[in-house]
Amino acid sequence: MSPTRSDAGVAASDPHDGLAVLEARGSTAEAFGIPLAVLAELTHRCPLQCPYCSNPVELDRGGSELTTEEWKKVLTELAQIGVLQIHFSGGEPTARKDLVELVQHASDVGLYSNLITSAVLLTREKLSALADAGLCHVQISFQGNEPMVADRVAGLKNAHEKKLEVARWTRELDLPLTVNAVMHRQNLHQLADIIEMAVDLDADRLEVANVQYYGWALKNRAALMPTLSQIEETSRIVEEAAVRLKGILTIDYVVPDYYALRPKKCMGGWGRQFFNISPAGKVLPCHAAESITGLEFESVRSNHSIAWIWQNSEAFNRYRGTGWMKEPCKSCEFREIDFGGCRCQAFALTGDAGNTDPACTLSPMHEQLFKQAELEAASDNNRFLYRNFSGGTLETGDNHGA
Ligand code: SF4
Ligand code: SF4
Repeated sequence: MSPTRSDAGVAASDPHDGLAVLEARGSTAEAFGIPLAVLAELTHRCPLQCPYCSNPVELDRGGSELTTEEWKKVLTELAQIGVLQIHFSGGEPTARKDLVELVQHASDVGLYSNLITSAVLLTREKLSALADAGLCHVQISFQGNEPMVADRVAGLKNAHEKKLEVARWTRELDLPLTVNAVMHRQNLHQLADIIEMAVDLDADRLEVANVQYYGWALKNRAALMPTLSQIEETSRIVEEAAVRLKGILTIDYVVPDYYALRPKKCMGGWGRQFFNISPAGKVLPCHAAESITGLEFESVRSNHSIAWIWQNSEAFNRYRGTGWMKEPCKSCEFREIDFGGCRCQAFALTGDAGNTDPACTLSPMHEQLFKQAELEAASDNNRFLYRNFSGGTLETGDNHGA
C-alpha cells in the first residue's frame, strides 16, 4: 500500500505543501533536492510512428490526459517548489490545442520553457504565438537528412520537408534551436550530413542520440541495432565535428550502451536529478519507468503534492541511491558513478529491475547481450514495427530492404 499524505506530516487540506515538505526534516530522500528541470509529456498522441519512440508501448489515450487546468496547476506547483525549466514534450506536444495557453502560464509563473517537437503540426502562426507566449527554446527531432530515409523512419510522408521549414521559422523568430537526431543502423550512414544540416539550419546544439533499447525500440531492436564498426565510425565523426565546429555547433553524444563496458548513469541515477509527468499525470523517475511492473507511481491527481511524491513515494525510493543494490553493484567502486545503470533495461532484459544493468561487463548477462547485439546488427531484418495506439503495425512494401 502506498503511503498517504498524512504519513508526511502534511495537512491534507493544504494544496501548496511542496515547500513545507522540502523544509520538513526526516524525509527518506532529504539528500535529494528537487530537479531544476522537469519533462512534461503533455500527450502520447503523435502523427509520427517512430520505431524507437521512447513512449511506453502501452500509450496513454487522449481521454486520460490532464486537462488544461490540471497542467496549469502542475506548472504553478513546480515553480513554487523551485523548478526552473519545463520541457514540453510528448508524443507530440503541439497536438494539444492548449499549448500556447500552457506556455503562457509557464512564463507567468517564471518557468523557462522548451518545446520538444516533431514539428509536423506547426504553422508559422502557431510558432509565432508560442514565441509571443514566452517560449524560450525549440528542439526538433530529425530522422535523417533527406526525405527517403527520414520519412520512412517517421512513418509519415513529407515529414522531413516540414521539419526543415519549421526549423527555419524557429530561427527567423530568433528562438534558439536544437536538432535532435536519433541514430540507428538504418540512418547512421547519414550522420555526417545530419551534422552539416544542423549547421545549415543555424542550430545551436545537435543531440546525437543512439537508440536506447526499451519500449518500442526493444521491439524493433533487430532492425535498429548498429554494428560495432558503425559505432566506431560514429564516434570518429562526432569527435572530428565537435573540434571543427567549436563555437558554431555544440554536439551532445549519447553512446549505445550494449557495446560499452559500463552502463550509462541513467537519468543521472533513479530519483536523483530528474522526473517527468506522464500525459495522465503520473510522476515518473524516467519516461520508461511504467514498463517496470510491480511499481506503483503516484499521480498529480492524488492528494499528494509533487514534492512529496518526489521525496517520499515508494517508487522513487525503491531504487534511489545505492542501498537497494545486489552484487556485483553492491561492492563495486563505480556504484556512485553509474548507480547500476538503467532500471528499465535491467527489468526488460532480466525480469528484475533490482539486477545490474546487463549493459555492464560485470553483469552475468553481459556476454549474451553483446553476442545478441552483434547477431542482430548483422541480420538483414530491416522491417520496422511502427509505433501506434494499437500495439504497432509492421512495415509493408519494399522500403524495408533499404
Ligand atoms: S519519437 Fe517519434 S513517434 Fe515518438 S513522440 Fe517522438 S516524434 Fe512521435
Ligand atoms: S557492477 Fe554495477 S556499479 Fe559496478 S560498473 Fe557495473 S553497473 Fe556500475
